[in-house]
Amino acid sequence: MTNTFSYHVSESGFYGEFGGAFIPEMLYANVEEIRTKYLDIISEPAFQEEFNHLLRDYVGRPSPLYRAETLSRKYGANIYLKREDLNHTGAHKINNTIGQILLAKRLGKKRIIAETGAGQHGVATATVCALMGLECIVYMGAVDIVRQAPNVARMQMLGASVVPAESGSKTLKDATNEAIRDWINNAETTHYIIGSAIGPHPYPDMVTRFQAIVSEEIQWQLKEKTGKDHPDYVIACVGGGSNAAGAFYHFLHDDRVRLILAEAAGKGIDSGHSAATSILGTKGIIHGCMTLLMQTSDGQIVEPYSLSAGLDYPGIGPMHAHLIKSGRASVYAATDDEAMMAVIELSRSEGIIPALETAHALAILDKMTFKKDENVVISLSGRGDKDLNTYIKYLEDHQIPL
Ligand SMILES: *Cc1c(COP(=O)(O)O)cnc(C)c1O
Repeated sequence: MTNTFSYHVSESGFYGEFGGAFIPEMLYANVEEIRTKYLDIISEPAFQEEFNHLLRDYVGRPSPLYRAETLSRKYGANIYLKREDLNHTGAHKINNTIGQILLAKRLGKKRIIAETGAGQHGVATATVCALMGLECIVYMGAVDIVRQAPNVARMQMLGASVVPAESGSKTLKDATNEAIRDWINNAETTHYIIGSAIGPHPYPDMVTRFQAIVSEEIQWQLKEKTGKDHPDYVIACVGGGSNAAGAFYHFLHDDRVRLILAEAAGKGIDSGHSAATSILGTKGIIHGCMTLLMQTSDGQIVEPYSLSAGLDYPGIGPMHAHLIKSGRASVYAATDDEAMMAVIELSRSEGIIPALETAHALAILDKMTFKKDENVVISLSGRGDKDLNTYIKYLEDHQIPL
């Protein structure tokens, strides 16, 4: 039953052929400091105590595992939603920012920078900086600043500076470039809180460990509800891969559990306007790691597209690249329209308005078949409040009754 092949990061920072730390010389000292210290720091009892205390009393964990009755009837299986949308700040991102702010404090850093796409990671970072009294600068693509205006206002309320990234497609990739530039210029004072399971080693592993609480809870919650401590499927949307990494972590080596990733096909995989990285991507280096990314034959990054700002990224975390290449995880892609239909369906059938990113995980249910009595857990990574403008505009444009 149990797979002997390892899906965890190796000593040298690789997941199979993916991962590593491909960074400018100027960042070497910072990344090396994190690499040599992170495991010791996060395993300290005092760190664990503070982390778990904040997850419980500040974030509101454990997040519920909710059996969605209407979806279960429709798909003929037991569909459970892992309610990360109910966390403080509205998504799974806060699990990681709590972990990283505690690490930054122990590294003596005074200044925090972050990149953000949908703004959820920016909000989660601004939140923990307010909590800990640290300066916070968030880089965000100029296009995303417009489509995720409510989150920009939230970051500003929390005291963070939001800096627009004006290059390229003015989205997540460009915000990440700006954040890296800042870090190079302020390496000594600054910790960069990366918001997904991407970046140079040890970030993908560190972020995965902070998000692993999600699958730890799924194990005991499912056991309570069904008598089984593992689902038959875990489904998660994938941008950089942090909500998927957290939902998968404790099942990585359990072959009874099928791991499913939902990617953003945008206007269609072959339309030239998508973010379906694992399908269209080839091996290359982006933002400090070797992974799958959308690039031309001469290595220029292809501008990604998704209506969902949080999935609009040309790369994928190295752990996920390895899970896909090795056949451990399967990928399905959902278009903007399919995701929007899933938003409307969950809102009207379960009374839960999901984030547009999350809706991609719901949309692929239509492409799968389940056996009766199979247990399917979907990572409900975030809530849809930030997307309401996009949703209302979509309903009006498509003349769907309000
Ligand atoms: C950021 C975000 C994502 C995508 O990021 P991952 O690191 O792939 O999880 C998905 N859902 C929501 C709600 C987000 O905020």
